[in-house]
Amino acid sequence: MKRLLLAFALILATASVAAAKPRPGPPPKPPQPHWAIVIHGGAGVITRGKMDAPTEAAYRKSMSEALAAGETVLKGGGTAQDAVETVIKRLEDDPLFNAGRGAVFTAEGRNELDAAFMDGRTLSAGAVARVTRTRHPISLARTVMAKSKYVFLTGEGADQFAKDNGLEMVDPSFFFTERRWLELTRELNEQHLVIPPRPAGAPQLSELSGVQADDHRFGTVGVVALDTHGDVAAGTSTGGLTAKRWGRVGDSPIIGAGTYASNQSCAVSGTGTGEYFIRLTVAREICALVQYKGMPLQKAADEVIQKRLTAMGGDGGIIAVDPAGHMAWSFNTEGMYRASGAWNQPDRVAIFKDEK
Ligand code: ASP
Repeated sequence: MKRLLLAFALILATASVAAAKPRPGPPPKPPQPHWAIVIHGGAGVITRGKMDAPTEAAYRKSMSEALAAGETVLKGGGTAQDAVETVIKRLEDDPLFNAGRGAVFTAEGRNELDAAFMDGRTLSAGAVARVTRTRHPISLARTVMAKSKYVFLTGEGADQFAKDNGLEMVDPSFFFTERRWLELTRELNEQHLVIPPRPAGAPQLSELSGVQADDHRFGTVGVVALDTHGDVAAGTSTGGLTAKRWGRVGDSPIIGAGTYASNQSCAVSGTGTGEYFIRLTVAREICALVQYKGMPLQKAADEVIQKRLTAMGGDGGIIAVDPAGHMAWSFNTEGMYRASGAWNQPDRVAIFKDEK
């Protein structure tokens, strides 16, 4: 009898809810208020003495605009995946960074681009290495994740997959910048290696003036984000290391090394000398400490970067976020281009080591 009465009451309640007219007012609230995003633009020998004021201002502006673009996605209830791709696409188009346009050159004078993308909700992942004609390698990595049965595509095949899936294709000279070319020639001179001819389609040197090579060895870009649905995602995009040879691929596109995301622990993107990050599986290692040892995110990041990476002689840094909205960064270099924002914290943009 009691059960019957209960069932009756339930039916009545449901009917009255269904009959209620939709009331005008604000759109439905997102499932939770928490969102967070952290961005890096590479780590390396970045000191105040080595950077002039206009260059510093340009980096800060670019980082804070990229952050704002990611925050707009997340505040609007968009996914962490969309925030990661949106921000990285911007940075790939920005010649300040070693990703997409502005990528460093191989010893043969080519731009060979690597990227990875990971969804923390499903552990789906996509990665590409040595692409030369796809404008946005990060979108290609995401497309590999979403539309292929594979995780990792390389070279010509990866570019072909991009074309087949309607991604924007460009001439390889699109990625050329004079600054990176100067860096290459300087590096090859130091190594007593032959300087290749300027790539076909590159602008004539006389058309440019005032270009300076810089000492920032890195410039890889990465983003980690938490969305209001409680999901994390990570992405990384890079041109790799200047004067790389023999088809060298670094950590950025290797899942678990330079890029990792799991709702069970955290999302991480790294930057630095990839060979160390690969051997230490840096990104996964940080998440494993969180997942299995219950370490707080910052502590896990410092454990791997400040202790293990440093002990091995490696250099670089990481950014991270977890599903509770904790954010972290850790680096053992002079500086790292970095920015963060969250639902409960003011935006931060920083470059040098001593900045909080
Ligand atoms: N980690 C990248 C690589 O080794 C380089 C970088 O972060 O700048 O390819």
